[in-house]
Amino acid sequence: MRYLVISDIHANLTALQAVLADAGHPGEDYDFVWCLGDVVGYGPDPNECIDVLRGLPHLCLAGNHDWAALGRLDVRTFNADARRAVTWTRETLTDENLAFLEALPTTFVLGEYTLAHGSPREPVWEYILDPMIAAMNFPAYDTPICLVGHTHTPVVFEQAAAEQQPVAHQPEYGAAVTLSRGRRIINPGSVGQPRDSDPRAAYAILDAEKHTWEFRRIPYDIEAVQERMQKANMPDRLIMRLEHGW
Ligand code: ZN
Repeated sequence: MRYLVISDIHANLTALQAVLADAGHPGEDYDFVWCLGDVVGYGPDPNECIDVLRGLPHLCLAGNHDWAALGRLDVRTFNADARRAVTWTRETLTDENLAFLEALPTTFVLGEYTLAHGSPREPVWEYILDPMIAAMNFPAYDTPICLVGHTHTPVVFEQAAAEQQPVAHQPEYGAAVTLSRGRRIINPGSVGQPRDSDPRAAYAILDAEKHTWEFRRIPYDIEAVQERMQKANMPDRLIMRLEHGW
């Protein structure tokens, strides 16, 4: 089984389409899509992104922005720009797509893999930003590998042996690495709003048979997305950040 692993699409259809075009064909180049949450929020295409995802063989988790669009969260914890985007997203989503978001689980365990949007111990909320936070999360799940999103930054936290301090590895693009021994918490980065100073869309391919993981990065037409955001009267800061990758 080969999985296309994506996260934090954030209603950016152009970035999602670029990723899907680069990843190839379902059934040939990969078998299944794992989406680690935040399909909507920030971007101009919430319905379109959900429609594309629903057309693929996929499993999708709930992220904090998906919950915010459903009114499940107190958005006073969001900054003003994010709050405006949440309100716009909620008003724009169709009933069918709201029902899709309603049904998303917060965690999923399959074989050697645990999936969560934020972290295994706080699936919707917690940001695994550094090895210290990763260390507190390794005891919170049972499989060798945990896949998370939420920080919008691709990274691998590796714990060589139990009780050992995890180490953070930065991604190397375009080469599959073997996931041998030890345990790992892996973040594929964000499709629709990268925050690691690289504005290209991020995704990964996991080959469960070969036990390999490959980070990938792909440019997309950022200006086209910014134009749609302008038309929707979305906050300037959210429009600007796409070209800078923060
Ligand atoms: Zn997000």
